[in-house]
Amino acid sequence: HAAPRIDYKAELNEQQYAAVTTPPGQTLVIAGAGSGKTRTLTYRVAWLLDNGVLPEQILLLTFTNKAAREMLERVTALVPVDTQRLWGGTFHSIGNKLLRWNAERLGYRKGFSIMDREDQKDLMETVVSSSGIDTAGFRFPKAEVLGDIYSMADNTCTPLKEILLTRYPYFEKITDQIIHIRKLYQDKKVETNCMDFDDLLTQSVRLLKENEDLLERYRSQFEFVLVDEYQDTNGLQSQFVEMLTGEDGNLMVVGDDAQSIYSWRGADVTNVLNFHEHWPRARVHKIEVNYRSVPEVLELANVSIGNNKAQIRKNLQPSREPKGQLPALVPLDNGSAQASFIAQRILELQDEGVELNEIAVLYRAHFHSMEIQMEMTSRGIPFQITSGLRFFEQAHVKDVAAFMKFAVNRRDEISFMRMVKLIPGIGGASATKVWNDWLKTEASQAEVMTGKFSDLLIPMSVPKKARETWDQFAYTLDELIVDGKTATPPEMIRSIYDGVYEEYMKSKFKNAEQRQQDLEQLSNYSVRFTDPLEFLSQLSLLSGVDTDNKPDQQDREAVTLSTAHQAKGLEWHSVFAVWMADGMFPHARAIEESDAGLEEERRLFYVTVTRAKDELYLTYPLINHQARDGDILMKPSRFITELPMELMEKWNVRSGW
Ligand code: ATP
Ligand code: MG
Repeated sequence: HAAPRIDYKAELNEQQYAAVTTPPGQTLVIAGAGSGKTRTLTYRVAWLLDNGVLPEQILLLTFTNKAAREMLERVTALVPVDTQRLWGGTFHSIGNKLLRWNAERLGYRKGFSIMDREDQKDLMETVVSSSGIDTAGFRFPKAEVLGDIYSMADNTCTPLKEILLTRYPYFEKITDQIIHIRKLYQDKKVETNCMDFDDLLTQSVRLLKENEDLLERYRSQFEFVLVDEYQDTNGLQSQFVEMLTGEDGNLMVVGDDAQSIYSWRGADVTNVLNFHEHWPRARVHKIEVNYRSVPEVLELANVSIGNNKAQIRKNLQPSREPKGQLPALVPLDNGSAQASFIAQRILELQDEGVELNEIAVLYRAHFHSMEIQMEMTSRGIPFQITSGLRFFEQAHVKDVAAFMKFAVNRRDEISFMRMVKLIPGIGGASATKVWNDWLKTEASQAEVMTGKFSDLLIPMSVPKKARETWDQFAYTLDELIVDGKTATPPEMIRSIYDGVYEEYMKSKFKNAEQRQQDLEQLSNYSVRFTDPLEFLSQLSLLSGVDTDNKPDQQDREAVTLSTAHQAKGLEWHSVFAVWMADGMFPHARAIEESDAGLEEERRLFYVTVTRAKDELYLTYPLINHQARDGDILMKPSRFITELPMELMEKWNVRSGW
């Protein structure tokens, strides 16, 4: 093996170096924000490869797929190996990869579809309404709520009954029905060959549990398992990690208990705190230097998190020189003054030489960004937004994807329905009839994709006025399959667009042009895939958990607008934490609730402020004009007022802005 090209000692501090070069076994790295946990993990991968470990022997689990990509890019720059062969990504994307190879073992067919939240809701509604359960008599939970309940049970590995008892006592009288619906929903997913997001993980775990040979195979393949952001893993994820690592396997996890912010989604910080219970021989490493932030920012963060009782005390020291500028506390008249201040300050920063990519506006809830989005648009400041409706969740993108999904998965009822309902003259009821007709045809049963859709007689149930468009649809679907094989993703998108979608879009949407550009972008993005299944999985994975935005604009010069949750792990030169008012951040619900709720909000505040490298602005409006019950006077966030004022500098910009 060639001599190592990396001077590990020069690029890492002593504590990081010790973790990077630790002998095989189980290792927990626990350290505060910006201390180089992710960097340590990245160098660990490089170090392993440098020492002869093969890329395919490494499994790297990250919070977003983008994070994995960036880490691997860095590794590639360090070590000349093909990191393409390394399995890196979110739990869901790794689960997807396992299931793509093995779903038949679970009663699924090849080419299952992945449903997003909206698809899931649609399918759940179908299940509930055909279950025969009389939902009229009592308040039956909506499909989304059912989805949340099932998800909580899955992700925390808790029996559904117990979840209902402890978290949803309100539904006590209908516990049996809720349990029954879950069974029906699960069957329906197998029948339609669809998985929802949670399935990517639950089914993966089930796959490994039920198939000793597969467990053995993957366990021996993944010689080294590494996990970032371990404090936000849930019970199911830690089980997945444990299974793939094996009793005596090599595992390195890094995390920070002060940044655990997903307990509302079932994440369990005891995975970090009680790491020893499962791994009694684990070594623990700490890193006590922060490399990211200037001391002024770090001090504010440290003092703030010190107010949490349930926190491991850390002694996080700054490595950077003082900036000579304290974090700014900026009260503004109202929301629009706040937006205008931020835009103004961003333009100034740009003049000072700060790139837009190095600036972020972070908020507690997506709707806090509305005025800021408008202000940025009107001033021509480019921004990318990593929350709210994502690119891949927009109706027109999903419509096109539905054609593709159905072409490869002929059981995909949800995609079929979505597609057929685009035909003028076909509504919900007739769509269901058409679907039932379709199920009776031979082509619907075909495992291999032969037989033309257009050869099918027009189903009796297609209303007369819809028949012409129906034909157009059938011919379009034909084009997606050539000689029993699927066309490439860009070819498919072209066919769908030319065949039916352009016409539909122009008749339906006012902003058809914008949407057309989106689809062009989708097509450009799809060029890198030859297999539509791979492309479709990628779309689903991106829209579900990732922070990725429009595929082609990821590296564009733009300010980032993001929720605090989505900003985890990232860093910027300047950070604006906005709507820092009580009831906004912390969230009103958390204030009313328990101490635990408030402590989680404070951790979220800690995550927010520790994203800043050089400059931190805490802004809040004095009046909220957008409140439902008229104007409301705002108080600064208790996370600010509980801090000594010497940690901040109050900016008085209220007149003249
Ligand atoms: P978070 O808790 O927010 O996820 P982290 O602990 O993962 O943070 P990193 O993102 O790995 O921290 O590192 C923070 C910043 O400090 C990065 O810009 C990283 O490159 C830099 N950094 C970390 N360690 C060192 C080091 N030894 N020398 C120079 N820079 C470092
Ligand atoms: Mg990190």
